[in-house]
Amino acid sequence: MLPYFDRAAALMHLGPNVYDEALWTLLGKDPPKSNPRHDGLDACFWQFARDPGNPMEFLRFGPHFLAREAANIQILVNATVTHINTDPNGRKLVSLEVTSAHGRTVSIVPNVVVLAAGGIENARLLLASNRLLPNGVGNDNDLVGRFLMDHPRTSLGEYAPRIGRLVEERLGLFLLKHNGKNHFYSPGLALSPARQRGERLLNCAAYLSEHRAEDDPWDAMKRLYKRQSQNYLRDSISAFSDPRLLMSGICRRVMGGRNITHKLDRLAVDCLVEQVPDPESRITLSERRDELGLSIAHLQWKISELERRTVAALAHAFAGEMISLGLPSPTPPDWLPGGDLDAIEFTDTAHPTGTTRMDEDRNRGVVDRNCQLHGVGGVFIAGSSVFPTASHANPTLTIVAMALRLADHLKDADLR
Ligand SMILES: Cc1cc2nc3c(=O)[nH]c(=O)nc-3n(C[C@H](O)[C@H](O)[C@H](O)COP(=O)(O)OP(=O)(O)OC[C@H]3O[C@@H](n4cnc5c(N)ncnc54)[C@H](O)[C@@H]3O)c2cc1C
Repeated sequence: MLPYFDRAAALMHLGPNVYDEALWTLLGKDPPKSNPRHDGLDACFWQFARDPGNPMEFLRFGPHFLAREAANIQILVNATVTHINTDPNGRKLVSLEVTSAHGRTVSIVPNVVVLAAGGIENARLLLASNRLLPNGVGNDNDLVGRFLMDHPRTSLGEYAPRIGRLVEERLGLFLLKHNGKNHFYSPGLALSPARQRGERLLNCAAYLSEHRAEDDPWDAMKRLYKRQSQNYLRDSISAFSDPRLLMSGICRRVMGGRNITHKLDRLAVDCLVEQVPDPESRITLSERRDELGLSIAHLQWKISELERRTVAALAHAFAGEMISLGLPSPTPPDWLPGGDLDAIEFTDTAHPTGTTRMDEDRNRGVVDRNCQLHGVGGVFIAGSSVFPTASHANPTLTIVAMALRLADHLKDADLR
């Protein structure tokens, strides 16, 4: 996978793919003085893809790809794939049924098809292609839709904004200038592999999550600049209400290689935790149907005791790490002091994963190492649904890297 991560990073206008403590050297900064390994913590970093045309925005691929016209690409919009047709044994792709928003249906006969409909929809479409095959396409072993994972997210504590400023020095965004471009890295703390192995825990990482005040001057300025303000007078007052904050933000950015400081309501310490692949955590088809008559996905998303135990271990380690850095530990969530793990409240992170998982053994996975459906010629899958496990990291860089790898495979393979 490694070369594909570099190609994916270039496509997404990211900086170097360095997400561990080696980044401190690239940043030209000393690592923090504490000894995180003592508590079984490692440094980790996230990176966010910025739009090259507008560095104030996150990257959205659509406009960039539309601008790259290619003679061998034809894009159909308002065209929903509603059924994958195979031969009677379900061994070979025959055609795709495609329906427009107005209900007109056409048939497309491709050599190969790559399903790239997202972590839920890939599985839903295979399951719903069930006119000939009652279990759906590629589902001889009843594995499609199973092992649904996400990154359960919860809070490990909170800081009041004033105290939070100290912690932000350690865990706020860092700016890396690389080949003439600015790249932002968000630092975090993750359970080390040794600790995960030693205590049989999952991967889990904590990061700071800013909750900005409604009258944050920078956000107000951004709304005014982008002509998106709902209230010009209020935003104009907010934008110039705190010149010291603006000045210190500019100094931090220009001289310190750090992000600007915002006016905050509160600063949370959030974490994302890996999940145990559980066959009972799954997508099935519900009785309800969408406008095009396709069965809607029913999700049974399970979070196990191990996820809860892992989060608690990270919460304690994070608080210990802050103290060893001479920083305050966050105000803990209600469940932490008494260790009431059942009371941890999670949300998902919109990272549905694992529902067409990869395994060389068709009895254990839906796709093979080339992302081809086991036992069905001509059907491939791209997206996080093929991940067998999800670690703690956001999925999109890996999705893009695997898509490039699949594209190379399709170019090389004789698929007629
Ligand atoms: C609010 C939010 C924030 C996120 N933040 C991050 C982040 O910071 N970092 C990160 O790595 N990830 C993030 N994610 C996750 C990220 O969006 C996904 O990992 C990524 O979009 C998955 O890409 P994909 O192309 O596989 O699927 P999608 O982006 O879901 O694209 C699938 C496409 O297929 C189309 N489609 C579906 N079914 C059919 C059908 N039957 N026929 C035709 N077309 C169909 C859909 O309309 C859609 O356009 C975030 C997600 C959300 C919702």
